[in-house]
Amino acid sequence: MVQSAAKTRERLPPRIQKLADLAHNMWWSWRQEARDLFKMFDLPLWRSTNHNPVRMLLEASAERIEEISKDPLFLRHYDAVMLTLQRELENGHLWFPQVYPELTDRPIAYFSAEFGIHQSLPVYSGGLGVLAGDHTKEASDLGLPFVGVGFLYSQGYFRQRLGPQGWQEAVYPDLKTEEMPLLPVTSADGEPMRIEVRLVEQVIKVALWEVQIGRARLCLMDTDVPENAPWDRGLSARLYGGDREMRVSQEVVLGIGGVRAVRALGLHPAVWHMNEGHCGFLVLERIRELVEGGLSFDKAAEIVRATTIFTTHTPVPAGHDAFDFALVEKYLRHFWEPLGLTREQFMELGRFDGPTGPAFNMTVLGMRFANYRNGVSRLHGQVSRKMWQGLWPGCAEEEVPIEYITNGVHLPSWVYGPLDKLFDKYLRYDWREHHDEPDLWERLDEVPDKELWETHQEQKRKMMSFIRERARRRRISGEMDPHQVLVAGAFLDPEALTIGFARRFATYKRAYLLFHDVERLKNIIHNLHRPVQFVFAGKAHPADEAAKHLIQHIYSMAQDPALGGRIAFVEDYDMHVARYLVQGVDVWLNTPRRPHEASGTSGQKAAMNGVPNLSVLDGWWVEGYNGANGWPIDPMTDGDHAAQDASDAAELYRLLEEEVVPLFYKRDADGIPRGWVQIMKEAIRTAAPLFCTRRMVREYTERFYIPAARAAKKLGV
Ligand SMILES: *Cc1c(COP(=O)(O)O)cnc(C)c1O
Repeated sequence: MVQSAAKTRERLPPRIQKLADLAHNMWWSWRQEARDLFKMFDLPLWRSTNHNPVRMLLEASAERIEEISKDPLFLRHYDAVMLTLQRELENGHLWFPQVYPELTDRPIAYFSAEFGIHQSLPVYSGGLGVLAGDHTKEASDLGLPFVGVGFLYSQGYFRQRLGPQGWQEAVYPDLKTEEMPLLPVTSADGEPMRIEVRLVEQVIKVALWEVQIGRARLCLMDTDVPENAPWDRGLSARLYGGDREMRVSQEVVLGIGGVRAVRALGLHPAVWHMNEGHCGFLVLERIRELVEGGLSFDKAAEIVRATTIFTTHTPVPAGHDAFDFALVEKYLRHFWEPLGLTREQFMELGRFDGPTGPAFNMTVLGMRFANYRNGVSRLHGQVSRKMWQGLWPGCAEEEVPIEYITNGVHLPSWVYGPLDKLFDKYLRYDWREHHDEPDLWERLDEVPDKELWETHQEQKRKMMSFIRERARRRRISGEMDPHQVLVAGAFLDPEALTIGFARRFATYKRAYLLFHDVERLKNIIHNLHRPVQFVFAGKAHPADEAAKHLIQHIYSMAQDPALGGRIAFVEDYDMHVARYLVQGVDVWLNTPRRPHEASGTSGQKAAMNGVPNLSVLDGWWVEGYNGANGWPIDPMTDGDHAAQDASDAAELYRLLEEEVVPLFYKRDADGIPRGWVQIMKEAIRTAAPLFCTRRMVREYTERFYIPAARAAKKLGV
């Protein structure tokens, strides 16, 4: 096993050796000054590694290292950043330790199948993972004692390539652990730590990696170790790949192995938080531990319930993980006896009559053993109460004990660069510390329209040069046909109204809605004086053929000369692409079929960047829209899908034609669209304080973590 930190450190002279520690603490990913330091270190390398400091330190030339370690400007900045990091790591002045000093000694363990911290650690696929990553970063900023538990996928999530006909190809790069900010967890004797998990007849070994996320830790499990058989080694290779057997095995490792991983780290969490049902088996392992310690099943279950949080993200029954009883029996046959249960009693724990008949449902298991349950927006809370009412027989729908905590995004990860500097100038000097206070944002009024507008133009130009540069690189490397360069966005017009649509290509997101009436769309796009262009991005799940056809359809539209290079499809949507898009487009478009968008965090990222939403009133936007900060599409909810699509598309076109496009192009004498800038300000003012993870993690803490931590104390566990 390569000690990558040691390897990077070895390459550096003592004067700048702590650069290796910084590269191994992903704190740098949301701190401008730390990113600036790496840019100063070697800007071309920073770009060519897609902002991966560990790889940079491994690949930098010896000459460059020598040169930079003597550069006084660099050294001054280096010292300042190291001091800030050290203070952050030590400090007790953060919110949590100040308000709850008696609860700092035991962590909150947060389980998730994916964590999106930064593209250099590609162990996420989309919204669920990015939310977990943002939650972890915020936990660090607020000073929560916090450990995340997840998987290290050795091939990550796939990279998307689009062929000449727009067909999505999935590329699975073999990730190199030494190029990621990982440290192997070792036991006291310095050997790599292993935990064991039983799968059917086999006991497999799981390696543990640790990632520093500021003050928080993230523990990633990895079954790709030489002691395991090939199938078992491949278990943690891919996120959401494989069949049902693979899936149930992964979930056994995540839930049961995860608890053992936490123990192996020597931690005794007070509170356990499940981010979606994939990690649901963790409740069984915790009950098993307690029963082994001499408690009855009922008493153990009571303790587990009192200290567990379950967050659901899926508003449709079919989206919840459920396994055949036979499959559960195959994998967990050895589990009911230690719990003191019969097979039937065991199966009851997760039994639910779902869309495909009765099955062992992971959400049901999770919710039955968590006293704190929530959906991720107000509307999603309602939908969840209705969907799961059957679990609480006799309970009126509004009494069903599932609450909601609306998602947010980690502001420093999504707002930075020119806009961040503008906030420095016009908000308070310590605005970052107070960014969830609505009053603070009233000061946006003082930002001159011209400055905000020009700042946005700068972000827009950055996005376009990013898109062009990608297309150029792919073309010269021979991976792209000349006609694909057009679709890749090389001819986007920096002056034209630019509308972004970037998200997973799940059918419910209805990326096709915009193309419902192509003639009408053409008229909107080709208006001589008021041109409009669209930037699409997003991956389809590799097994989702319908979604891949949809991408192909949009691709063919984008290739059509009749749409004139005004529709771009940016390949390989990930956090890197997402950042440029949410900062650089003029409008963020979202057209889900209500109520399928549980929250939809990308719209929050855009809004904070002064990019108003044009969106179906679904998920967070039901709460977020205030009449002046964007445009709502009030969807048709009765009728069949075709009727809904027709009605919603007509409303979308109407808004574009009558409101969005005219307002964008309504300029005053100095070329500033005053009315538009008002909407931009209103978008920032409303989104930044309310739809940030600072507000969200505080809510989780006050409403769930603290009562659960106090219960743990009281129960003596
Ligand atoms: C924020 C984000 C998402 C979630 O966006 P939705 O609005 O839920 O579609 C998905 N993928 C990436 C890469 C993101 O950054």
